[in-house]
Amino acid sequence: MAHPTVPRSGVEQTAPEEGIRRPIGHNESVTPAPTPRSEELFARARAVTPGGVNSPVRAFNAVGGTPRFIASARGPWLTDVDGNEYVDLICSWGPMLLGHAHPEVVAAVQAAVARGTSYGTPTEGEVALVEEIIGRTPVEKVRLVSSGTEATMSAIRLARGFTGRDVVVKFAGCYHGHLDALLASAGSGLTTFSIPGTPGVPASSTALTLVLPYNDRAAVEAVFAEHGYRIACLITEAAPGNMGVVPPEPGFNGFLAEICRQHGALFVSDEVMTGFRVSASGQWGTDGAVEGWRPDLVTFGKVMGGGLPAAAFGGRADVMAALAPDGPVYQAGTLSGNPIATAAGLATLRLATPEVYDHIGAVADTLRDAVAEAFAAAGVAHVIQSTGSMFSVFLTDEPVRDYAGASRTDAAAYGAFFHAMLDRGVHLPPSAYEAWFVSAAHDDRAVQTVLDALPAAAEAAGARQSRPANGDS
Ligand code: PMP
Repeated sequence: MAHPTVPRSGVEQTAPEEGIRRPIGHNESVTPAPTPRSEELFARARAVTPGGVNSPVRAFNAVGGTPRFIASARGPWLTDVDGNEYVDLICSWGPMLLGHAHPEVVAAVQAAVARGTSYGTPTEGEVALVEEIIGRTPVEKVRLVSSGTEATMSAIRLARGFTGRDVVVKFAGCYHGHLDALLASAGSGLTTFSIPGTPGVPASSTALTLVLPYNDRAAVEAVFAEHGYRIACLITEAAPGNMGVVPPEPGFNGFLAEICRQHGALFVSDEVMTGFRVSASGQWGTDGAVEGWRPDLVTFGKVMGGGLPAAAFGGRADVMAALAPDGPVYQAGTLSGNPIATAAGLATLRLATPEVYDHIGAVADTLRDAVAEAFAAAGVAHVIQSTGSMFSVFLTDEPVRDYAGASRTDAAAYGAFFHAMLDRGVHLPPSAYEAWFVSAAHDDRAVQTVLDALPAAAEAAGARQSRPANGDS
């Protein structure tokens, strides 16, 4: 694994070994590459699929324009159907820790496909993948499923079945997949039950969900004081990445684990995004492992599937024992533990060495510094927040600790920034409220492409900023 020695701060630095420059104030205009095939495909797609996409954020609604239809990807690069190349800072929204088409992952998948695609029987690969997950994380037993949504949905059912209680507590801005019970918006007061967050979710499905502001200990205490005896579980993103990155304040996750324990509720840590990415042991590796506490249940997805549909939930052996067929709580899946997905996940986790985490950490540091410098040079108010190598930029002037804070980001300015980056060959998440992801394959050329694009893109954001940048708005 090549370790990048890219500059972490300073102006016009040159990294001695690898020769990466950081151009500052470099603001030439570019002619956007033509995208006729993407436009044609988007029109075709919209005729047959709502919004033309199979998951909403892909439609570019938040930033406008035509989503790029990707034909292939390798390492840190995406190639669209018109032949344009982009540095990928989405990484499939997290899974591609090793970059695209890693030769060993591809070989593992090819070998698995050649042995047949699904049997509906147990396989050795499932055992090996689960052992690998248990080896890295605070869980004792694991069940494999096919998506993060399925993992959180199953974990909540299990928590309810195990405790014999119904109420679920979650935080505003944390996303756990599209299960009805968690597509909920806060009610009128902190300890009031929530209302559906989308049409199609019956009020009865969210009537047992309480939604609280993130990082707010007093709100958590108030809810447990009033409803503690009814609470089956509290679920939280281990470090939220779905409102942009909003890290837990020091000790917050440990506090949640403890208050759940005191009230006989389960603490469910959703590591679908952070698992095997923030560290080898996910976010827990940076807090629980250090502070000495364990969640009761953990959900996983993304990296552990190596880019194929695999996810999991696991936890305390006594809680997992309540799951069918050992226990009474039903859960099942035709393609659960699918041999191809399992092979991709296993190859990915085995290749996720300490060097990989060092590399993506160094790349993230470089990008964060360069983003901060570019926005500062352009006079654009910004806050960059991160957990491990996962980070995002809020175009606002105050640190963001909850959903209300995240909502103050200047989404229009982000849209201008996004398109200026895209025109310069960098594919950011097409929404101001998403984490940016890098991979072990992001090499000097990819990093340099991002660094070269940033100054002009930050200026484009400044030109669109809807309020003063100097904090006196
Ligand atoms: N939990 C978290 C923290 C997530 O980030 C996501 C997806 N972004 C999910 C659950 C749902 O996963 P999936 O999209 O695989 O259903």
